[in-house]
Amino acid sequence: MTYLLLGTNLGDRIQMLHRAINLIAERVGTVVLQSSLYETAPWGVTDQPAYLNQVLVVETQLKPEELLVQTQAIEQELGRVRLEKWGARVIDIDILYYDQLILQTDTLTIPHPYLHQRRFTLVPLAEIAPDFVHPILHKTTVELLADCEDGSEVILFSSNE
Ligand code: AMP
Repeated sequence: MTYLLLGTNLGDRIQMLHRAINLIAERVGTVVLQSSLYETAPWGVTDQPAYLNQVLVVETQLKPEELLVQTQAIEQELGRVRLEKWGARVIDIDILYYDQLILQTDTLTIPHPYLHQRRFTLVPLAEIAPDFVHPILHKTTVELLADCEDGSEVILFSSNE
């Protein structure tokens, strides 16, 4: 089981998430759980559109490195569609967890190194995996969220329509 974070802040954000989920289901494995969508108000540069984030739990037969190849291919494929129009990447797919695996290579760090520092990751993760234990920090998602010092606002956007 792998836990993926999707993020998008350009174009038709909901459609972009749907397309990413469809491609993940085709190429990565069965999407077992999907969180609601959450909107993170942009801070710092406030003329940036807000992000929509969603976490998925996916049952996959792919090894971590193969998984990264697929998620990057999906990012590129969806990004390319928008590239002419926006000149920016529109979908980001982060690998948060892969079972209880701890992995560090040149291209891949699992658990994702920033997941415990970001409310936009922890809030959707807490919805669908509140009791999952971080294999390095030995804390559940709920505990990580309680400890998290990130003050950014993460707002429930809609359930999965
Ligand atoms: P970013 O542009 O911030 O999405 O970073 C993408 C880069 O992070 C890629 O080149 C990946 O090789 C690397 N990376 C390392 N660990 C992870 C992870 N757990 N999930 C996704 N990308 C990762």
